Amino acid sequence: MWLVECPSYWDQGLVRPLVVETGKVVLMCDSCGVVWHTPAGIEEFEHVAPCEPDWSIDQDSHVRPGTVRWASPADVTSAGWGELKWRELP
Ligand SMILES: [Zn+2]
Repeated sequence: MWLVECPSYWDQGLVRPLVVETGKVVLMCDSCGVVWHTPAGIEEFEHVAPCEPDWSIDQDSHVRPGTVRWASPADVTSAGWGELKWRELP
């Protein structure tokens, strides 16, 4: 499932919900890897660009490869984002 297209003008990725190791749900572009903590943050350009070696996205969480998974509808609902207009992946 995905929410919007990546707001970066040079990127055509899809912004998708992601579950990190702590169980927190965030949003990540499946192309450029940029992360937003909330859906509202996408329009406000409040993104973080995680990078090696720590892949940190805030003080407590990271998106290190192998520790994250794309979220399911149940994850998104428990994050309080179930009412947003999610779309099916092609
Ligand atoms: Zn992107």
